[in-house]
Amino acid sequence: MKPSPKKVFIKTYGCQMNVYDSERMGDVLTGMGYDQTATPDDADLVILNTCHIREKAAEKVYSELGRYRALKQERGRAGKETIIGVAGCVAQAEGEEIVRRAPAVDLVFGPQSYHRLPDLMSRFASGKTAVVETEFPAEDKFDHLRAPSTEAVAKRGVTAFLTAQEGCDKFCTFCVVPYTRGAESSRPIDKILTDARRLVDGGVREITLLGQNINAYHGEGPDGRRWSLGRLLEALSTIEGLERLRYTTSHPRDMDDELIAAHRDNPKVMPYLHLPVQSGSDRILTAMNRRHRAEDYLKIIDRIRMARPDIALSSDFIVGFPGETDADFEATLQLVEAVGYASAFSFKYSPRPGTPAAELDEQVPETLKSERLARLQDYLNAQQRAFHLACIGREMDVLIEKPGRRPGQMAGRSPYLQAVHIEHGPNNIGEVVRVCIDSVGGNSLSAHIVQSGSDSPVHALATG
Ligand code: SF4
Repeated sequence: MKPSPKKVFIKTYGCQMNVYDSERMGDVLTGMGYDQTATPDDADLVILNTCHIREKAAEKVYSELGRYRALKQERGRAGKETIIGVAGCVAQAEGEEIVRRAPAVDLVFGPQSYHRLPDLMSRFASGKTAVVETEFPAEDKFDHLRAPSTEAVAKRGVTAFLTAQEGCDKFCTFCVVPYTRGAESSRPIDKILTDARRLVDGGVREITLLGQNINAYHGEGPDGRRWSLGRLLEALSTIEGLERLRYTTSHPRDMDDELIAAHRDNPKVMPYLHLPVQSGSDRILTAMNRRHRAEDYLKIIDRIRMARPDIALSSDFIVGFPGETDADFEATLQLVEAVGYASAFSFKYSPRPGTPAAELDEQVPETLKSERLARLQDYLNAQQRAFHLACIGREMDVLIEKPGRRPGQMAGRSPYLQAVHIEHGPNNIGEVVRVCIDSVGGNSLSAHIVQSGSDSPVHALATG
């Protein structure tokens, strides 16, 4: 009798790149005969793909590992082996310390080593002692990662992530990324195009290019020269069947003319831009080593809006960075007012071990951080709602992604990345349909199908 396949449970924390990395690890393990399972209880291999961005990330991983150790012991009593692996940015940052504090862990490997999983597994199998791999390898993992099958792509839906760039050289003083993901690197154009075509063959209609600093992209083109993100988007947009392109996350200093022009000239590049500013105070921006001023950011926003007036803007904010005064915080509110965001992510500053900001004096008291965050979020939420409300009565294209919650309802995304529910929508997942927006729910829009219509762009609001 054929033995049943082994099972792997992968738990993903954090950003979209971790989601993408987990999929690619899943592809590698499929090639090793593993099936994915949605529960750790019957898993022969458990992988935690960790994130170091949130506060006390490492401590949370250790506490989670306590639970998996108990599961491993229980399965061990039933004669079953469970291999536990820790991947991702916490693995990269903590390394050997993970095995010291959590001896039930068998594999520790950083984000640049996923392609080495077969080798790591066989090293563990031959020695039965923990294997730790946190060196940045010389080879490019993407040259060695197993490509997903068309069936695997089809199962993942009509939108997909695709890593084009990784790592960062900016060294913002609050951020661990340059230490955990390594130096900035860009994949060559032809490799990204090959991956994109494979995704489209599997039914993907929208690709979001990923990179910690995606608009610093400078991959080698077929002509041997360095191509910018704008040129990469142009090349991708020639793929037949690919309807939409997005990219994230960008740095203000890397918004070049070619990329801005892509938003104006290329209809497949969606009118949505996540461009983190973090603070509206020049003093704090300097302390963060962001290498731009608030005024520079606002000028970039003006240029983008000149090119694409309806663009939906999004940002990240950190409140309570060390030394942030009331005046600094007010400057952030003023910047928010000047931009008018369609969406945003905002957090209280919390120190990340090993980063320069963690060593700074003048840490802001927790209560004050909470007060400021609440004020900022109220403002950002009001702007987001205003942006949604401005859509009512307008026509726009929606990519249908899945059935909605109610019978007959379909769910998709607007060009501005809003969730849209279409009442009595056609059951045609993967198609772009024209809708008219009827109403705004909590965080989504309701719409009905229209047969035709002229473009009626939503103009982002200048004030919230
Ligand atoms: S640009 Fe982004 S990824 Fe790079 S250090 Fe700054 S916050 Fe981190």
